[in-house]
Amino acid sequence: MDSSVHIAFHGVRGSRPVSGADFSAYGGATSCVSLRLGDEMVVLDLGTGAPSLGRQIALAPPEHLTVLIGHAHYDHVAGLPFFQPLRTGAKDVVLASAVAGGTRRMVAGLMAAPFFPVGPEVLAPTLDCVDLRPGRRFRPSPSIEVNLVDSNHPGGCTAFRVELGGRSVLYALDHQAGDPRLDAQLIDLGRGVDLAILDAGEPIGARQSGIGHSTWQEAVSLGMRMGAAKIALAHHAPASDDPALDWLGAELADVADNAFLAREGQDVQFEAVCETALRWGTYHAGL
Ligand SMILES: [Zn+2]
Ligand SMILES: [Zn+2]
Repeated sequence: MDSSVHIAFHGVRGSRPVSGADFSAYGGATSCVSLRLGDEMVVLDLGTGAPSLGRQIALAPPEHLTVLIGHAHYDHVAGLPFFQPLRTGAKDVVLASAVAGGTRRMVAGLMAAPFFPVGPEVLAPTLDCVDLRPGRRFRPSPSIEVNLVDSNHPGGCTAFRVELGGRSVLYALDHQAGDPRLDAQLIDLGRGVDLAILDAGEPIGARQSGIGHSTWQEAVSLGMRMGAAKIALAHHAPASDDPALDWLGAELADVADNAFLAREGQDVQFEAVCETALRWGTYHAGL
């Protein structure tokens, strides 16, 4: 069996999808990331990158599939009604979020007239919709541990830390840096992770506009303060075409050699160090 934890980026664009030759290198699909170790899989957000991931999953379904949704803005859930594993895929599928009103209600709202032709009755009857609470640990299977905090975003959003195979990934898109309490909470959540996937959704060169995203410099600072081994910047602004992101990549290399710009289709691997999730109690106690 492959003993690596694979982290794959299926959509790295923020706010809305983009297409065209100028976006072919970094990709135009919106937020979707997967973590996989053997028969365990965690998917973070179901933006427009999710349907193609769903087709990949159908070819080799995991035993357990956990889908975590940070919030229900369109760029993070537009792929949900088209994500085939929620209908047929893995044997054991959990869909979890801390969205206000509950996960099941969010799904019903997305799959309802006049926005969508069929309702949630087409989803697998065994689909387990779970409501999460920031600060409370979630263990969807014995080998996966999820911890979560609120991020700073209009309408609310959740940042996740996922432990799988003894490896840890922080996923914190749609976070506006600058609130001391929420930044400290996020840094605590991400302390010492192998990979921090952070929001750099402010247009390049812009000062923070106050609509719930961070500049790339703020994202790098957060990643460094949490001591992340690797830092992936994502949620690229729709205006950031390939030449702009290439320019930013060169700037980034000058300030942080462990940081990179996430690209659609990219796969980051870590050798698993144990079969079950490491407990995160040291940091969790403070939440
Ligand atoms: Zn977003
Ligand atoms: Zn958002």
